[in-house]
Amino acid sequence: RRKWKKVGNVLKELEEGCDTSVGRLRQVVDAMAVEMHAGLASEGGSKLKMLLTYVDNLPNGCCFRNADRFVSSLSFQRTEKGPYYALHLGGTNFRVTRVHLSGQPSPVLEHEVERQPVPPHLMTSTSEDLFDFIASSLKEFIAKEGDGSNISQDRRELGFTFSFPMKQMSVSSGILIKWTKGFSIVDMVGRDVVACLQEAFVRKGLDVHVAALVNDTVGTLAVGHYHDPDTVAAIVIGTGTNACYLERIDAIIKCQGLLTTSGRMVVNMEWGNFWSSHLPRTPYDIELDAESPNPNDQGFEKMISGMYLGDVVRRVILRMSLESDMLFGPISTKLSTPFVLRTPLMAAMHEDDSPDLIEVARILNDTFEIPDVPLKARKIVVKVCDVVTRRAARLAAAGIVGILKKIGRDGSGGITGGRNRSDVKMKRTVVAIEGGLYSSYTLFREYLHEALNEILGEDIAKHVTLNVTEDGSGIGAALLAASYS
Ligand code: ADP
Repeated sequence: RRKWKKVGNVLKELEEGCDTSVGRLRQVVDAMAVEMHAGLASEGGSKLKMLLTYVDNLPNGCCFRNADRFVSSLSFQRTEKGPYYALHLGGTNFRVTRVHLSGQPSPVLEHEVERQPVPPHLMTSTSEDLFDFIASSLKEFIAKEGDGSNISQDRRELGFTFSFPMKQMSVSSGILIKWTKGFSIVDMVGRDVVACLQEAFVRKGLDVHVAALVNDTVGTLAVGHYHDPDTVAAIVIGTGTNACYLERIDAIIKCQGLLTTSGRMVVNMEWGNFWSSHLPRTPYDIELDAESPNPNDQGFEKMISGMYLGDVVRRVILRMSLESDMLFGPISTKLSTPFVLRTPLMAAMHEDDSPDLIEVARILNDTFEIPDVPLKARKIVVKVCDVVTRRAARLAAAGIVGILKKIGRDGSGGITGGRNRSDVKMKRTVVAIEGGLYSSYTLFREYLHEALNEILGEDIAKHVTLNVTEDGSGIGAALLAASYS
């Protein structure tokens, strides 16, 4: 019985350590808004890089509803016609996309996508190997078009979604600042990503022009805005996590003298690197960070995204096993191996609704080689998954509200005379959202929505819509390639 008690204590400590009460979330919201200001004020002013994207106009596929939106929307859709391409590199899957533009705004964007896993050895190989792989994939994709004889057709225009922090010089050039999400190719850091890609196209004999270099969040925002012009921000929660939003040029203090016709620019926050002392951090997070290839970096991402959640859970189960071998048997080597528990499997345990938690037992056996875990211990494992995922989803929600606060869409400003929060004038506000963790993990999604409602209050939250897009980052990059080519 003492052993169960010890395990119970580990769980209790975890729950306390992962506290995301509304009060604490509001502190995270405020910290996010403050850091956004600081990152816009000066280069290096915050852990939030707040990177310029040079995307100053967003595509619009609907009729224009008012003059304000007209200014911030591109009208290219009426003239751009034909296939546009996108490549997406940024996590587990590499994607090639083709979008067919009809020359007219259209509620449906005809497109094709091909996905394949990034061969793990390329993530730490040389830039030439990586970009040759990318170029070859595009070449094969194009070769499958029609009868295959059209590879020499006119120059093709392409948007490159490259989801790592870049310092952009223009909409079609940018230098890699650092790798994240397990990538590490030292010779790439500091180099122009588009130049590397164009060189690979030359090596493979492809006549393709990179018209736009975009972060995946920017692609998601572009496609979100195409379908709904009230879209002001985009969030990606997959292997990693990040956000971007439409900012007023005059608020980007660190870059005086920027000129854009719209008076705005999309800012890539790189919010994965956000940090605040208000974030509920546990010893498991500290260990995970210390053992990662990028310690002290991407702190917010390490608490939220798909690359890490499973491993936080593994660390808790390991600790419980050390406390009591009665629960999980002797410590297996697998249980001590970082990242053996992938987040989709952790989600499957969390969402196991069989009465005896058969799926949990199976996954614990398959992943950690721990057979016959007692039902009571399986229940504890489900609880651990719940605590870790709930914290992740609620922190992501706080981040979203932080952005809304920064742009005055959280209902805290603009009181129209009355005293009640319900008198606050709120514009309809849409946030595009994408990524495997959000779209495939139901409980994560539910926790995120619940927290948004709690933080904003229902009267405000009803004006805020999360719009999930699929393959939006690639489609959006192709749309941007069309408009900027
Ligand atoms: P990217 O790797 O480019 O971020 P995705 O947006 O598709 O691509 O996200 C994939 C990530 O989403 C996976 O690494 C995994 O962590 C997470 N994921 C995918 N499916 C699930 C699932 N069913 N449950 C929980 N997480 C999932």
